[in-house]
Amino acid sequence: MSKVTSKDCIEKENNCGAHNYHPLPIVIARGEGVWVWDPEGNKYMDCLASYSALNQGYNHPKIVEAALEQIKTGVTLTSRAFYNTRLGDFLKLVCELTGHSRCLPMNTGAEAVETAIKMARKWGYEKKGIPEGQAEIIAFAGNFHGRTNMVISFSSDEDYRKNFGPFTPGFKIVEFGNFDSFKDAVTENTAAIIIEPIQAEGGIIIPPEGYLKQVSNYCSENKILFMADEIQTGLGRTGKMFACEHEDVVPDVFMLAKAISGGFMPVSIVTADDDVMDVFTPGIHGSTYGGNPLGAAVAIAALNVLVEEKLPERAAELGDYFADEIRKMNSPHVEEVRSRGLLIGVEVKKESGSARPFCEKLMDKGILAKETHDSVIRFAPPLIISKEEIDWALERIAEVLFSDV
Ligand SMILES: *Cc1c(COP(=O)(O)O)cnc(C)c1O
Repeated sequence: MSKVTSKDCIEKENNCGAHNYHPLPIVIARGEGVWVWDPEGNKYMDCLASYSALNQGYNHPKIVEAALEQIKTGVTLTSRAFYNTRLGDFLKLVCELTGHSRCLPMNTGAEAVETAIKMARKWGYEKKGIPEGQAEIIAFAGNFHGRTNMVISFSSDEDYRKNFGPFTPGFKIVEFGNFDSFKDAVTENTAAIIIEPIQAEGGIIIPPEGYLKQVSNYCSENKILFMADEIQTGLGRTGKMFACEHEDVVPDVFMLAKAISGGFMPVSIVTADDDVMDVFTPGIHGSTYGGNPLGAAVAIAALNVLVEEKLPERAAELGDYFADEIRKMNSPHVEEVRSRGLLIGVEVKKESGSARPFCEKLMDKGILAKETHDSVIRFAPPLIISKEEIDWALERIAEVLFSDV
């Protein structure tokens, strides 16, 4: 067998794949901790961590072991027509972490979002008394909740929507961070809001202090479900297990995915208390792979790693250090550095062009970061990163932020 080369891999993907992504030209062949290698043996630090799915880092021994052990039982999928030996423990652990009494496992983030929307609507009709077909859900401009047709129905991004209509009705979009804009949109038919506590894809947009709390209080007073999409901000990334904790907000519903399985396979989940979750009765919603024992075994290990290795605390401490050091550089290209924990967005000045060339230069120096929304360089490495590794990165980031692009 001939040796795999980066050039081959890139050519094949480009020739046979749909062109729905614009990847940086690097092939990842091997990974360990925060480091990856291409087929030629060049080493890079991964500062994207697959959009925060790899919070536990590559090749974590405990997650690898859990996956292999489950595979060796010969049972990777049972479907929900039967019970399996891992799902119960997984659900119990998620209930403990979120404080909710029930959860519903799916696979991708978008599926968790779809599930939460279905649940909120059904709850609206059956528990809140909204007239059939009238339920409204409020979403926030600049959001990212996934790519299915229902989910893009409440996106405000024209690129995500153009020529994909007609869209699912029943959504209102209000300004993120503006309480009045939200309040004015509420009617008797508002069943729920769906909100990211920090808009990550939107460019690491952090709402004004007190905003989430204000919105959440208003929701409880008006029998509206506060549904937090913590698919990217959750599970330690921002320095707390959930980003809502920064404002002591307790959501009625969590959507989780990405790091819940540490990057091993698609696992997502929706959590809520009994009075909300019990709108689901046998036969009305489900997924073949949702709750599969391999995913459950992996997720148990991945969640245990977050807790045992205190990754949220680590993200808080090292994230502040990482972001402050970038701020202190005072680069002529940087407009602003926004961060919470190890979710760091470096906004490039308009005069300095887009963020993409900076990401390409970073790659040349051995750092993988990806632009989001054109003007923002995102640094979101695995949470197991060490201070020495951050210092290694900072040296190279400084070189790039002071070069001509
Ligand atoms: C990634 C993401 C999703 C979608 O998850 P997929 O697994 O890609 O479907 C939804 N919401 C947020 C906040 C995300 O970051």
